[in-house]
Amino acid sequence: MTKSISCNCGWHEHGTAEELVDAFVQHAQEGHGKQVSREQAVSLIREE
Ligand SMILES: [Zn+2]
Repeated sequence: MTKSISCNCGWHEHGTAEELVDAFVQHAQEGHGKQVSREQAVSLIREE
């Protein structure tokens, strides 16, 4: 099942929940210099 996650900067990704959590945590660090928890990332995942 495909899900999506997006950031308020316009970045977004599609994939499985596991992939999206990893992608968002990495994006927050590399793109914004922020540490986000996996729980925060999970809360941003939306069903396609
Ligand atoms: Zn961003």
